[in-house]
Amino acid sequence: MTQAMPLPLYAIGLGSNRRHARFGDPRRVLLRAIAAIESEAVEAVDASPIIASAPLGPSRRRYANAVLLVASSLSPPEMLAHLKAIEAEFGRRMGQRWGARTLDLDILLWSGGTWADDMLTIPHPEIERRNFVLAPLATIAANWRHPVSGLTIRQLGAKFVRPKPVDRGAAGL
Ligand code: ADP
Ligand code: MG
Repeated sequence: MTQAMPLPLYAIGLGSNRRHARFGDPRRVLLRAIAAIESEAVEAVDASPIIASAPLGPSRRRYANAVLLVASSLSPPEMLAHLKAIEAEFGRRMGQRWGARTLDLDILLWSGGTWADDMLTIPHPEIERRNFVLAPLATIAANWRHPVSGLTIRQLGAKFVRPKPVDRGAAGL
């Protein structure tokens, strides 16, 4: 009997800030993108809630972000190629050959650890600086340890949590 090796896991970051002519607002773009990422070689394991912003200010632009956890036999370069093909598909706007990009797909983390070549860096170098990545990531992979810093996603996200003012009276101080 052969022992099944667990498939590598990837955390994929999804972002959109533009409507898609057919799919609709950024939230709907991400729902479609999640469906597109799943394939014969890519199995969805978990998905964060979609974090969507209300339109703000004169641009009235909406943002949506989410993180998808997938199990896949694809190598990191193969996974990047898969994601780039989907980005290109979604970026194509009606009446134009290539429009502004509707969808950003990033490889955030890989259970294999680190990867670095001209095309691809894992972990994604911006993770620690982006709360719109850390917040959804923490909902599905809070205990995943960043292989470079050694900190968990929960720990990395903690610096974005605004401390509540201490009620000194109630605390007896
Ligand atoms: P960003 O995601 O920073 O807004 P792009 O989506 O335009 O920028 O990505 C630019 C390039 O970054 C991609 O063509 C890809 O080759 C490279 N890249 C490096 N590391 C990663 C990663 N972890 N995930 C996705 N793309 C990456
Ligand atoms: Mg990207």
